[in-house]
Amino acid sequence: MSLSNAAVRDIETVIHPYTNLDTFRTSGPMIIERGEGIYVYDNGGNRYIEGLAGLWCTSLGYNEQELIDAATEQMKQIPFTHVFGGKSHERAAEAAERLKAIAPHAASKVLFCGSGSEANDQQVKLVWYYNNARGLTKKKKFISRQRGYHGVTVASASLTGLPGNHRDFDLPISGMLHTDCPHYYRYAEPGETEDEFTTRLAKNLEEMIIREDPETVAAFIAEPIMGAGGVVIPPAGYFEKIQAVLKKYDIYFIADEVICGFGRTGNMFGSETFGMKPDSISVAKALSSAYFPIAAVTVGEEMYQAMIDESKKLGMFGHGFTYTAHPVGAAVAAKTLEIYEKRNIVGHVRALAPRFEAHVQRLAEHPLVGHARAKGLIGAIELVADKKTKRSFDPASAIGAAVVAAAQRHGLIIRPLAGDIVAFCPPLIITLEQIEEMFAAVHKALDEVEHRVT
Ligand code: PLP
Repeated sequence: MSLSNAAVRDIETVIHPYTNLDTFRTSGPMIIERGEGIYVYDNGGNRYIEGLAGLWCTSLGYNEQELIDAATEQMKQIPFTHVFGGKSHERAAEAAERLKAIAPHAASKVLFCGSGSEANDQQVKLVWYYNNARGLTKKKKFISRQRGYHGVTVASASLTGLPGNHRDFDLPISGMLHTDCPHYYRYAEPGETEDEFTTRLAKNLEEMIIREDPETVAAFIAEPIMGAGGVVIPPAGYFEKIQAVLKKYDIYFIADEVICGFGRTGNMFGSETFGMKPDSISVAKALSSAYFPIAAVTVGEEMYQAMIDESKKLGMFGHGFTYTAHPVGAAVAAKTLEIYEKRNIVGHVRALAPRFEAHVQRLAEHPLVGHARAKGLIGAIELVADKKTKRSFDPASAIGAAVVAAAQRHGLIIRPLAGDIVAFCPPLIITLEQIEEMFAAVHKALDEVEHRVT
């Protein structure tokens, strides 16, 4: 295969995340040039359904004119002004008001930042700050879950529970603990019911807290559906049992809504879908439909009051990024949230979810698929060598990557995750017809790879 000039220039200049940097030197990148609706086009003019909405983020697709206009107008009015030291701009409050109005908990204020990783990093700092303000100076540890994904900064990568994000980066830092992943298909013991499984996980969490000393455990963070860790949908009752434990030990509960937020699971937030009652949420990605890097955390009134007290004591709240509440990002976020409301994006997802979920479930009949799961417009299949024993393929066969490559040849971009899991997460504006088109490509890809391995 000969590489285009653009690909060669890329190889010589750009470091690519989540890429084998060795094999990349010969394979090179796929260059995406433009987008339209749920489709993107490569530099050879080939069209693909973006079946993962980019990185679980382009909820409104690739040419939403209202977002382009919002960004352009803000760029023209003033491309940058900051919110440090008493300055502000109107877009910041517009975006914050809209987020507060829909948040799945009593949000008092919004602290913006640039990415999901920064949002979760801020969560860690805010909890430490809050507990210092409350005089709870020992209460600092965080608990997240194995296979959870919360980002890649030093703190958020420590919260992440995936070995690939820790290994040789000297992570996690101390005080970051990981409890069980609620993946019933993989981790249930033989004969264990879902109810027994979730009870065991809640018990393990409680034992961890007691072992660590509850006085030292500050917060628990969880995605409603684990995304990068394998699109793990928790069994019914899981969060109820987990939350009962958190409450008992006064542990702050953060919902990482970076993927599930803004309609993905058929409610505005995944927290609503799974009965979560968080103290705060982290949002990013679909907050701006990924048209501009912006993210945020919500802060409840009690924490806000403690932050005021600290400001009195220390003279200021000593945190913030140059791009905190960037005016272009805030303008795009405010417009995105307006569009979700006026176009009833949640209603659209609910209308399409039964078809999407049924398509994913049907894939479980395929000989390569051990488990299929979906909720709203997010789902995944888990490929196994033996359906009965759930035995995985030899990692060297890279079967997930093979299915993804085959799908790409059939005009569909999807994503392989660790454990031969293939994820689906199309833009929320997808139509019923496009769902058919998407899964037709998945079937072709699976059949092709099946012929190769059998
Ligand atoms: N949290 C979750 C649930 C995510 O899926 C991601 C990214 O995929 C992040 C946090 C990190 O966000 P970012 O990549 O914007 O730093």
